[in-house]
Amino acid sequence: MAHITSGELFRENIRGKTELGRKAQPFVERGLLVPNELTVGMILERISQPDARRGFLLDGYPRNLEQARALDRALAAQEKAIDKTLYIKVSDEELVRRLAGRWNCRQCGAVYHEQSMPPKQSGACDRCGSALYQREDDRPDVVRTRLEVNLKELEPLLAYYRKDGKLIEVDGELEVERVKEKLLAAVGRPQEVP
Ligand code: AMP
Repeated sequence: MAHITSGELFRENIRGKTELGRKAQPFVERGLLVPNELTVGMILERISQPDARRGFLLDGYPRNLEQARALDRALAAQEKAIDKTLYIKVSDEELVRRLAGRWNCRQCGAVYHEQSMPPKQSGACDRCGSALYQREDDRPDVVRTRLEVNLKELEPLLAYYRKDGKLIEVDGELEVERVKEKLLAAVGRPQEVP
């Protein structure tokens, strides 16, 4: 499955100084939602790529009802639909703690945490050796805004998927391995595609 992360797509566009990146940057820096007209188009274009034909995992999308409906409409036009929605529940305090200690590798995308998953050598990626960085929007003040913005839209979104029986809730504060097991059990084995 293609793993498609809306935030990463925005960050790539910002780094590459594309038109979309230029428009999205002021929102991303402040931790605000990028307007739907930019976000929906970006995601629909991405899921039309060949690597998403066998299926995809969307990470960070949808973040409001309009995004969910636009996605469903686009998929329905191709006689497809979202199978499952995973909601990983973590308290606000824990989210702030996790994001404040998060370090990312720009090169290979690996993610570390100062306390719970430190790299072997401070500041360097275990996998590829590149320098690690902290996201500007992981600063606690911006994280607070991100949480507020996201939580405002969360309940209607959960209700939307719950009514179709597609919502799976997983406790994200369990041990990493337990969360992983539960997520794998929730999605089931990927289908073999000839
Ligand atoms: P994330 O990496 O998921 O925390 O996303 C980083 C930032 O990208 C967010 O704070 C938003 O500014 C923007 N973003 C990511 N996904 C979406 C989305 N589905 N709708 C609107 N903005 C988004």
